[in-house]
Amino acid sequence: MKDWLFRIAACSAITFSSFAAAQAEPLDVVATFSIIGDFAAEVGGDRIRLNVLVGPDSDTHVYEPRPADAIALAGADVVLTNGLEFEGFLTRLIAASGTDAAVATLTDGVETMEEPGGGHYHYIDGEAIFHAGAHDPHAWQSVPNAKVYVQNIAAAFCAADAEGCPAYEANAARYAGELDALDTQIRSAVAALPEDRRTVVVAHNAFRYFEAAYGVDFLSPQGISTESEAAAADIAGLIREIRDRKAAAIFAENISDTRLLEQIAREAGLPLAGTLYSDALSGPDGPASDYIAMMRHNAGAITAALAAD
Ligand SMILES: [Zn+2]
Ligand SMILES: [Zn+2]
Repeated sequence: MKDWLFRIAACSAITFSSFAAAQAEPLDVVATFSIIGDFAAEVGGDRIRLNVLVGPDSDTHVYEPRPADAIALAGADVVLTNGLEFEGFLTRLIAASGTDAAVATLTDGVETMEEPGGGHYHYIDGEAIFHAGAHDPHAWQSVPNAKVYVQNIAAAFCAADAEGCPAYEANAARYAGELDALDTQIRSAVAALPEDRRTVVVAHNAFRYFEAAYGVDFLSPQGISTESEAAAADIAGLIREIRDRKAAAIFAENISDTRLLEQIAREAGLPLAGTLYSDALSGPDGPASDYIAMMRHNAGAITAALAAD
């Protein structure tokens, strides 16, 4: 009798596990923000269930996590994070969720840039907010760095789901090929510009990796005081720099307050030349609905503005 019961139990266990293998549960992945969410979708395909904490057109730096985010982390197998103090909210959120998910830092292996002033400024609701950090976190703004992110994602998915590893590696290799083509496109677009027209102005200092990779220079206001007299002096300094370096265009950003930029554009006598996507994708109907579209849009907007007389 006992033996008979045991056999039934063993038999149903086998049936259950073979059913589970055939209908593999997707890997539960949490990505902290929209850009690495796109990389995760490219590498994971339909083997993952993806949850992106900070969505399109939203600023990760100032994000306030919701209770749903702690629940998503608690159920996650893998958490993908940029690192370099970009996601200020994440350490506390991980602790609060009690998750035992593997946490992959996607900038591991990237040659990082130091922040000259120990951080950079954001402009939110007319205020300059200092984002402290030893290293510039915006590493994704160089396509070769994006390839490192993708390799790190494939490695994290393989570690959590060995069975899916060949699929993750194939997806990563296909996507890396698309990134190589994108990198070549951006290089040739910038190479076609006159040597003395390679400087633009942006709201926050998020494009230093783009600058280093592609040779376009970016100026940005550094902590312009909101107190009106000091602000006038700070803006005068930036206007001088714009003239000295013959900056030819000023860009708004999808995540930044445009008021300060509009003021600088007026005083420098330059038009606002469009919107760049720095720290977040656009929504699905926007011009930066995925990473490749974002980089194409930014490079296209910059080179069009600099090529114009
Ligand atoms: Zn920042
Ligand atoms: Zn930023």
